[in-house]
Amino acid sequence: MNKIFNQLMLIAGEKNILTEQKELAKYNQDWRGFYNNKSLCVVFPLNTKILKEIVIFCFENNIIIVPQGGNTSLTGASVPTYQNKEIIINFSKMNKIIEIDKHNLTVLVESGLILDKLKEYLDKEDLYFPINLSSSGSCMIGGNIATNAGGINALKYGTMKDNVIGIEMITGNGTLLSSLSKMKKNNTGYDLKSIVSSSEGTLGMITKALLKIYPKPSDNFTFFVAYENLNSSIESFKQIRNLFYDKLESAELIPNYSFEVCLKNNFLNKHFFKTKHPWYVIYRLNLYENKLNFENTFEKNYHILDKFIKDIIIPSSIEQENKIWKFRDDLVEAYKMEGKIVTNDISIPLDKMDIFFSTAASHLSKIPMEIKLHPFGHLGDNNIHFNMVLPNIEDLNSYRKIRDDIYLYINDLVESYGGSFSAEHGIGQIKKDSLLKYKSANEIDMMKNIKKIFDPKTILNKGKIFN
Ligand SMILES: Cc1cc2nc3c(=O)[nH]c(=O)nc-3n(C[C@H](O)[C@H](O)[C@H](O)COP(=O)(O)OP(=O)(O)OC[C@H]3O[C@@H](n4cnc5c(N)ncnc54)[C@H](O)[C@@H]3O)c2cc1C
Repeated sequence: MNKIFNQLMLIAGEKNILTEQKELAKYNQDWRGFYNNKSLCVVFPLNTKILKEIVIFCFENNIIIVPQGGNTSLTGASVPTYQNKEIIINFSKMNKIIEIDKHNLTVLVESGLILDKLKEYLDKEDLYFPINLSSSGSCMIGGNIATNAGGINALKYGTMKDNVIGIEMITGNGTLLSSLSKMKKNNTGYDLKSIVSSSEGTLGMITKALLKIYPKPSDNFTFFVAYENLNSSIESFKQIRNLFYDKLESAELIPNYSFEVCLKNNFLNKHFFKTKHPWYVIYRLNLYENKLNFENTFEKNYHILDKFIKDIIIPSSIEQENKIWKFRDDLVEAYKMEGKIVTNDISIPLDKMDIFFSTAASHLSKIPMEIKLHPFGHLGDNNIHFNMVLPNIEDLNSYRKIRDDIYLYINDLVESYGGSFSAEHGIGQIKKDSLLKYKSANEIDMMKNIKKIFDPKTILNKGKIFN
């Protein structure tokens, strides 16, 4: 083992490797606390050249690598699968913004740049990068690409993949692939960056990314609407989408239970609405016009929207608007504190969403325990985190059995309605069985063949996506 450490130290520099188990703890454990296998060490490469040398050394010595960004994966993709067999390569020291190109509206960054840092930097330059996740303060560009992150603005701007123009990466045998042309129109053979987006560190390690950027919207318009049932919120969303179409950046569905969870866990001190309603949607429009003029348009059109709306809050200050979005951002953290939770990341065609919810709720009500449903998320993309809170089951095996039975039922139902069992979080360690179940054998074979080309010795994130 010392030989390995010494060689890695020689390549990466003594300061850029951790080997003490207590220092490794936070890198070994996933965000949810589901996985906690020991790694051999964590290495922090400073640049592509060093990373390439590390990968060649690992390739020659059959050492498994776990690529890691901000370690916010919700599927156990960014932590070891096996005990004492893997090294983690953490990208936090490759975090530079290399070039902003205002002519072509692109930015070139290193993959360990934290998403919020990029957004804040661009904001000062009157530019905008739209990907927006509750984990934006910790997650990194490389991780966002490797998971094809979605988040609350995918409705208008697409997912991460839609905002990547080029990448530089190192494959599993140390080959450097650099595709950083600024040309958006560039049909020159297979689009390798698209294959690597959402490959969860199993095909290569992204070292640089060329991203699409946008002029900063001159203003935003947020409104928070209450509904008496799910169907009204879906019908109303469709009206709002059709009326404002390309202005509509976010439409986030929230059940009243979210308020209970946030109030109980001190993420909120007061309900936003005077009267409680079962469902709410927070909307945000991007404006490239005067907000006051826009407010008049909104008021003029309100009669079209009025039919389903039970109550509406239009924030009167930036502070109030920020409070509403902070509430949305805090939901994942607050809900995690509820203990025995079952999380889903599904997408369902909009016209099947209501029937899916009622069928699932009816099935879950037959399980002899109190299960609280906490579905929330990106209504605009049909992507709902169909989450639930179980009572505190002491025995871990019983909890896992119930959780797995619920997954099986929900995923089968989702598939039967033409949805996806994994909309934006990926497969990681947690959804490998589902991938095998719902993808065709031909698709799985093709994916495994692609993996063999990029990573001939299976040293990159072994045990993620497939066994
Ligand atoms: C509170 C919270 C809210 C979230 N909300 C959303 C959401 O709305 N939408 C959404 O899509 N996701 C969401 N996520 C999931 C997660 O934040 C995203 O998937 C994020 O994109 C992961 O980035 P990361 O830097 O933390 O990557 P990590 O968690 O470190 O890694 C994720 C995957 O990417 C690989 N990887 C990391 N860096 C590289 C690299 N440089 N090259 C190759 N592979 C790499 C890892 O091996 C792993 O497979 C949320 C997570 C949390 C904790």
